[in-house]
Amino acid sequence: MMKPAKSKSHLRRVEKAAQKVSEVNWLEILSEVSRIANSSLELEDRLNSIVEIVVRQTGADACSILLMDEDGENLILRATKGLNPMSINRVRLKIGEGISGWVCQNKKVAALRDAASDSRFVHFPVTEEERFRSVLVVPIMEKEDCIGVIYTQSITEKDYSEDDIKLLTTIADQVSGIIKNAQLYEKATQRLRELSMLYEMSMAMQTTINLDRLLRIILSCVTAGGAFGFNRAGLFLVNEKTNTLHGMMGLGPDSGEEAREIWSKIPQITDLSQWLISQGELLAKKESGYDRFIKGIRLPIDRDSGVIALTALEVKPFNIKDGWNDPRVNRDIVQNSGVNSFAAVPIIAKENVLGVIVVDNIYTGKPITDEDLQTLVRFAVHAGWAIENSKLFAKLKEANKEIVSVQQQVVQSERLSALGELAAELAHEIKNPLVTIGGFARRLSEKYEPTSEEKSYAGIIISEVERLEKLLKDILNYSRDIKPNFSENNINSVIEEILSFYEHTFWESGIEIKKEMSDAIHSLSIDPPQIKQVLTNIFHNAVESMTVKGGVMAIKTEPLSGEEGVTISVSDTGGGIPSEILENIFNPFFTTKKYGTGLGLSLSRKIVESHGGTIEINNRVGEGATFIINLPRRQIK
Ligand code: ADP
Repeated sequence: MMKPAKSKSHLRRVEKAAQKVSEVNWLEILSEVSRIANSSLELEDRLNSIVEIVVRQTGADACSILLMDEDGENLILRATKGLNPMSINRVRLKIGEGISGWVCQNKKVAALRDAASDSRFVHFPVTEEERFRSVLVVPIMEKEDCIGVIYTQSITEKDYSEDDIKLLTTIADQVSGIIKNAQLYEKATQRLRELSMLYEMSMAMQTTINLDRLLRIILSCVTAGGAFGFNRAGLFLVNEKTNTLHGMMGLGPDSGEEAREIWSKIPQITDLSQWLISQGELLAKKESGYDRFIKGIRLPIDRDSGVIALTALEVKPFNIKDGWNDPRVNRDIVQNSGVNSFAAVPIIAKENVLGVIVVDNIYTGKPITDEDLQTLVRFAVHAGWAIENSKLFAKLKEANKEIVSVQQQVVQSERLSALGELAAELAHEIKNPLVTIGGFARRLSEKYEPTSEEKSYAGIIISEVERLEKLLKDILNYSRDIKPNFSENNINSVIEEILSFYEHTFWESGIEIKKEMSDAIHSLSIDPPQIKQVLTNIFHNAVESMTVKGGVMAIKTEPLSGEEGVTISVSDTGGGIPSEILENIFNPFFTTKKYGTGLGLSLSRKIVESHGGTIEINNRVGEGATFIINLPRRQIK
């Protein structure tokens, strides 16, 4: 335990007073009082010892000490010898009330031969003061302020001498010293407690980098009985993109009853870690209305959004005592949170505001002091660092995931390019014999009667050879290095050409064509055969998706938004692409068709990208798909 510092000035004053008084027992009293004053006893024990000494040594029938409360509004009986001990802490006098209140207010001594007859006298039933006649009350001064009174009472009527008054005043000085030391000591222990609490909380926060778990620990710290002990705490994080505060989590009971129930389960929480695993978890597991309330809040960070937004905007804490009548407070929030007093502190890391912590004591009604707020501000700095670390870790994890995925893509594309080379070689090898087979099959077909079986066999050979030839063409196209041969062309005319070529196919498949070609499109640098191939692939897929039921294929061209170029959209009503395969459709060899090669879209994307453009899909499952090709006007070397 820390020993309170000795007050030299008090000792000097004691000595001075002692020199002036003649009787030996005065010296005895003062040295005894001084010994008690400088002892390491608790404040209460020291005060009790002093009143005992006074009664024992001065012959007074009672001696009591009243001290001012924290708010400086009432005098409270803190120690007595001679009065009913039950009255300690129960007797309270407003400043100005009773003889003690008068002494305190006027900073003057009251020495009364018959106190009961004095108009200032107030009777307290618990103290049985009617037994006493004479009263001597002196103020306990701390610099210019009166912080309490010390008074002696006697059953007999007594005229107090100058010396009596001097003695009690000297003792009052001693008491003032004791209180000052006790306050300093209390402050030091409070600071020590705070530091060790912050350390413990910091340690608790370091146990995780998972943001959700971290926020829970932060809020558990703020509501922990052994720490801040706020009834409820909510946490908001800044969303930088939208410049808003998002309610992330709220922790606290939903009713006074629930609060009592939870808090009674763990009556003596002194250890934070114990709290975190018991009460914090208990609350966290519960579906809390307060949590839902906080999670539902989104506040733009501006001056009109209330005090929580102001906390982030001005990077400073707010202690709101009367929310209803405070113009800075957001009306809806006060109404829905049901609390009139609350505090908000910013969470800061690297000079950036990461969020805001909001606390209240809705159930206990305990006022939030400025010291509470300062400690919370210091805690929020630790919390800020922990949140920042957690966010950095999440970013790192994301980047790592991306690296792994890119790595996989590289491996995949290397594999595919090896496969592509192999396929191209094979295609070359097969091409010539296939042309020969096709040629002979056609010659045979011409020789047979149209109705003969042989003619139909030859027909099958011809169509299968055609299919294989198309497959070979696709593979060769795909494996070929795509270097566009650019020339200035009008995209609308290119589209018209393809459409007129496939007009018959569309008609046969019962497909209606809708065109919406913009006149505002200037000619572009493109490789026309390559772009034709892209559009043919997309038209083919659209037609194939509608072969069973027919449908509408809509082609639209419009100027590219934001820059010079064109956007070509091709929509069909063929039911769209099942969502589970959507991400695969651009992969080479991915097909869902019996006779598909799975190269059409992959090749198309390669071509469009070599033109500096992009292909996007607007897929409407059950309805249809729209392929959107954006081609910028760009000279590509
Ligand atoms: P292929 O047409 O040879 O299958 P693609 O690369 O052109 O190869 O297409 C890959 C797959 O994408 C198709 O098998 C089909 O499942 C799907 N697909 C492409 N376009 C459409 C579309 N318009 N509607 C529905 N599915 C489509």
